[in-house]
Amino acid sequence: MAKLEVLKYPEKSLKEPSEPVKEVTEEHRQLFQDMIETMYLSHGLGLAAPQVGLNITLFVMDVARPNPLDEENPISNPLCLINPKIIEKSDETIIYEEGCLSCPDLLVDVKRSKAVVVEALNEKGELITHNFTELEAVCAQHEMDHLQGTLLTDQISRLKRELYRKKRMRLKKEEEESFDSNLL
Ligand SMILES: [Zn+2]
Repeated sequence: MAKLEVLKYPEKSLKEPSEPVKEVTEEHRQLFQDMIETMYLSHGLGLAAPQVGLNITLFVMDVARPNPLDEENPISNPLCLINPKIIEKSDETIIYEEGCLSCPDLLVDVKRSKAVVVEALNEKGELITHNFTELEAVCAQHEMDHLQGTLLTDQISRLKRELYRKKRMRLKKEEEESFDSNLL
């Protein structure tokens, strides 16, 4: 397994819609392993392929906040969803303060369906129907937004977005500069 680099806003490819997976292969299964490890190491509840630079429609999630890398709490139940589709959603909604590994230091209240039924292929290529409620439903809808190129930054006002973009650009530049100064 390997930890992957998680792309951050305003990386352009995060805003692009992803392509469906035609056939589930060994490469996808390897990618899932790497994405799951990256998700746990980053303390995320979910991770979508565009966040690791691949614009294909798949994501992983595990809202139980376990950490199999933690010897005291190794229980985990990661789900791998390929070409996910919401086939039913509740009228009842839920507002949850969401964060995103691709949007550091940004928390946004987002209103979503409280329950969703999602149809997707699993890592073996089998069609599975998932009934998600509460935090699982929030997480699945957040990850599926990524597959369409929608980010938390699309949920805030244009002014806030512009301020956040400038802040991210400044931090990115600072990171690059501090990296350069270490090159002796
Ligand atoms: Zn996210």
